Amino acid sequence: MALRAPSSAIVAKNPNQLFGKVLIANRGEIALRIQRACRELGIKTVMVHSEADRDAKYIRLADESVCIGPAASAGSYLNIPAIIAAAEVTDAQAIHPGYGFLSENADFAEKVERSGFVFIGPRPDTIRLMGDKVSAKAAMLKAGVPCVPGSEGSLPEDAKEIVRIARAVGYPVIIKAAGGGGGRGMRVVHTEAALISAVALTRAEAGAAFGNPTVYMEKFLDRPRHIEIQVLADEHKNAVYLFERDCSMQRRHQKIIEEAPAPGISARALMRIGERCADACRKISYRGAGTFEFLYQDDEFFFIEMNTRVQVEHPVTELITGIDIVQEQIRVAAGQKLRFRQRDLARRGHAIECRINAEDPFTFVPSPGRITSWHPPGGPGIRVDSHVYANYFVPPHYDSMIGKLIAYGDTRDQAIARMRIALSEMVVEGIKTNIPLHQELLQDEKFLRGGTSIHYLEERLAKRKTAA
Ligand code: ADP
Repeated sequence: MALRAPSSAIVAKNPNQLFGKVLIANRGEIALRIQRACRELGIKTVMVHSEADRDAKYIRLADESVCIGPAASAGSYLNIPAIIAAAEVTDAQAIHPGYGFLSENADFAEKVERSGFVFIGPRPDTIRLMGDKVSAKAAMLKAGVPCVPGSEGSLPEDAKEIVRIARAVGYPVIIKAAGGGGGRGMRVVHTEAALISAVALTRAEAGAAFGNPTVYMEKFLDRPRHIEIQVLADEHKNAVYLFERDCSMQRRHQKIIEEAPAPGISARALMRIGERCADACRKISYRGAGTFEFLYQDDEFFFIEMNTRVQVEHPVTELITGIDIVQEQIRVAAGQKLRFRQRDLARRGHAIECRINAEDPFTFVPSPGRITSWHPPGGPGIRVDSHVYANYFVPPHYDSMIGKLIAYGDTRDQAIARMRIALSEMVVEGIKTNIPLHQELLQDEKFLRGGTSIHYLEERLAKRKTAA
């Protein structure tokens, strides 16, 4: 009898085709999320952690753990030599960076690969290309992805030339740092009189904050929505889009509620932009999971940036597609082909995520400390992604997000109804959380209608302040 090659399904189930051991270079809910994906795939895990996270339960669930430094991230979660040394002593084969910290650091990805480990993410040169917003925009324009109108590349030194560009773009304009991130390094300019000093100021700030004074100009859109497209691509030129997410509910450019699908946008328009993104992935030989972020206004999509990592809000996409994005990241990093094509993908139902932050729901001041009681909600369509538990101490050193509550339903209305029940069931005592704010927003008439702009939450919060 002739030997037959095993079917791809059998290969995919064989953990030997993946990695024996993965090091997780992150903390909190995403570290636990990645650990769960690895365990399901039969992969052993190494958890690196700071001194502040030493006693967290999710660290003990890992096969091995290594303390890599003090509480301050600079000495631990951002400590490249310590992380690589931990991978060496534990014989890990691959490193998953999660989100934040070193996840979009091309130098880290390069050092990981040079040290003989697999970086679970895109190639370092892709991270570098997309990490500079000027080069990212140029690459996207070339690949046929629509961008916000603005300067062609970075702004020149010559003041007259800058004035000319702004007139051509049309006021208001926004000056943005090429190396910016996290909503920093941007300035809106309404008049020509304010232009040159604003450019100088943004340049100086960008130089100090990101080590790169390059800035560029875009038309400032006054009431856009934030719509993003999730993609997955392998090393074999296959790329798919996993539909969109609407992340318009933001405060200070930080998302707090995300949902999929995006209410009120035609399926055809979304399909067109999704195809453009998948196509761009093939053109730049993208590898892994990624997100194309767009501003959407007057039925048009405008690319603003690409995130070359898993995102906080990935679960809403998982719930409507049934695809485990973190597991797919690992498979692709191991060199496997995507197991599905675009035509195999369908979305079903609606999912909404509320980010639960340890903070005062009115002042937004962080509220670290000991959680005295913790009762997560449950029931049909409810998913809780969190690493915390009763008696967990929320360290003051990191981001204030302590978990994510995700509700799924056949319809948006059902997802909202389930989310309201879940928020009412959820008990977190000992620290303050933003659960009351979520409860308010889940009763908000405009949110319920769907399609609010990225400025909606701040405008609403400003009204709350004047009313108080
Ligand atoms: P970052 O990497 O810092 O998140 P982005 O380029 O993604 O920077 O922009 C962050 C946010 O800034 C956007 O979500 C949007 O709220 C606002 N923004 C950026 N560019 C524009 C623009 N051209 N018009 C209006 N708002 C913008």
